[in-house]
Amino acid sequence: MAAEKALALVLRTTDWSETSRIATLWTREFGKVRVLAKGGRRLKSNFENSLDLLTLCRVVFLRKSSGGLDLLTEARVEERFPRLRADLQALYSAYYIAELLSDWTEDYDPHPVLFDEALATLRNLGQPDVPTGVRLARFELVLLRELGYTPALFSCAVCGQEFVLPQRPQSPPRKDGDSISAASVTSVAPMAFSPAAGGLVCAECRTRHRNAIPLYAETWLALQDLSEQEDAWRRPMTAEVRGQLREILNQYVTYLMGRRPKLLPYLRS
Ligand SMILES: [Zn+2]
Repeated sequence: MAAEKALALVLRTTDWSETSRIATLWTREFGKVRVLAKGGRRLKSNFENSLDLLTLCRVVFLRKSSGGLDLLTEARVEERFPRLRADLQALYSAYYIAELLSDWTEDYDPHPVLFDEALATLRNLGQPDVPTGVRLARFELVLLRELGYTPALFSCAVCGQEFVLPQRPQSPPRKDGDSISAASVTSVAPMAFSPAAGGLVCAECRTRHRNAIPLYAETWLALQDLSEQEDAWRRPMTAEVRGQLREILNQYVTYLMGRRPKLLPYLRS
């Protein structure tokens, strides 16, 4: 058995016996690993409370050569995210991130970019100036890209026809919470989002994708920006656009996973 060191986020723990726990860890170095933490339920164990959900730890584990669970030998807390406990929407979003990473990634399939994005998101969530729903959308688009499911946003997912970019507004919409006037939304985009087709479908193709979700031109731009730019979530977005982003991602993630994530009904835009 080889001893491995990793930076790990605790995604899930389950009791295994009177004294032991199984932890699902999302590591930067190895992707998802499942480890047995012997004595992990004792108050004064080697792991103390480092195996709390959504704790970032430095871990050492013994990797089993064939089958069986890896064995956790050390876990030291590196960082916690106390803001999540004070903001329910941020907490639900963090649980949703843990659910997606735990249920949608393969064991020993590392994605350091996705690890870093998850960490950055957990650090941002719950801060007063961070729009929870839009920040989460940025995480989801990075996750989709890393797993090979980047939605088609620049050309039709069916016929490949390239879309002409709409005019970007000169100044961003006012940031005044949910009371944004209808006038700030300029137009309904000619294309729609089809989870089954894998992204946007053009006006012609959408007639054959009846479940495609209509969207505003601003939502289309927001999807492109969030998918390509690290800080795009900081830009103010209207309640309508945020609502459409949530609806599109809800339906796309549900379609790809083949089931609705458990935390999804608790998310807000
Ligand atoms: Zn088309």
